[in-house]
Amino acid sequence: MHKRLYIPGPVEVRQDVLDQMAKPMIGHRTKDASALQQGISEKLQKVMGTKNTIVLSTSSGSGLMEGAVRCFTKNRCAVFSIGAFGKRWYKMCTANGVPADIFESELGQPTTSEMVDEVLSTGKYDCITITHNETSTGVHNPIKAIMDVVKAKYPDVITCVDTVSSMAGDYIPVDELGLDVCITSTQKCLGLPPGMAIASVSDRAVEKAKTIENRGLYFDYVELVKFVKEKPFQYPSTPSLSHMYALDYQLDRILEEGIENRYKRHCEMAEVVRDWARKNCAVYSNPDHLSVTVTCITNTTGIPFSELNKAMGEKGYLISNGYGDLKDKTFRIAHMADTTMDEIKTLLKDLEETIAELQSKQ
Ligand SMILES: *Cc1c(COP(=O)(O)O)cnc(C)c1O
Repeated sequence: MHKRLYIPGPVEVRQDVLDQMAKPMIGHRTKDASALQQGISEKLQKVMGTKNTIVLSTSSGSGLMEGAVRCFTKNRCAVFSIGAFGKRWYKMCTANGVPADIFESELGQPTTSEMVDEVLSTGKYDCITITHNETSTGVHNPIKAIMDVVKAKYPDVITCVDTVSSMAGDYIPVDELGLDVCITSTQKCLGLPPGMAIASVSDRAVEKAKTIENRGLYFDYVELVKFVKEKPFQYPSTPSLSHMYALDYQLDRILEEGIENRYKRHCEMAEVVRDWARKNCAVYSNPDHLSVTVTCITNTTGIPFSELNKAMGEKGYLISNGYGDLKDKTFRIAHMADTTMDEIKTLLKDLEETIAELQSKQ
């Protein structure tokens, strides 16, 4: 039996979207391939609210995250971490010999604009990384407040933002916020299979990258942008054309729903899941900074999550355990991509019944 996915990636993918991946291949250096990539770029610019260049990468989002710290750090990178995915940026820096410091918030809490101000006021950093939506804790960072400080006081700093679990679900107007580099993956709010990453990148970030040595090759943003701008709309190596077909198709669906409607749907699903969690368990994170795409729930049921998920699995669902340090204390429900309110309500009803059944057996 297929278990419907309510985990924060990969998400459930609609059959009509999956079918796109079965289309015949085309030559990746053909005009048709360029037209496909151009269409995707233009649609993504609308979804992301940006005029910046869109680069695609046949990798998961981590590839473009790793490329970003290499390409955009000349002096030192300040990594603001609020959980497992923030820590990953820091590991990427150290693994690549990129000088970096990590500034961590307590689990369940956001990065604040005050923290960013204090760190950048040292003058030591020319690149920062922010996790827009921390999937391990279900925290959504106050990105507008953070960017207001960065734009006003540190205009030369390059801002790299991980929107892997929020782009196309949450509201992230890239140009309005002033994000230089904004990275996402296909398998989360975009509602596609895993295997492709996307970034928007500002011209000034690319100009800066050109002055930096040892950027690597496969995830070199200068190279990726060059192929988009000069070839034009090509990819340096052979991209996953199957993902591109599905992405092109799915972007039409997303734009048809409308970015605002999509955001509203995510907010409404998030509210319902949080209400359920408050009634049946507890919401883990700071109530003023909750994610609209994933909710992290403190497991107060007295039932080990492994048992709960096994029983849910028998009913055709997959929900997620806690991540990293929160593995056994919490569990997570994703409400992202093409998931509907009806599906969320049915899931929560079955989850409540399952908990009661397991509790009565204890
Ligand atoms: C899933 C996730 C990642 C990792 O993305 P991959 O596409 O698996 O490499 C990074 N950051 C956040 C916030 C995520 O949710």
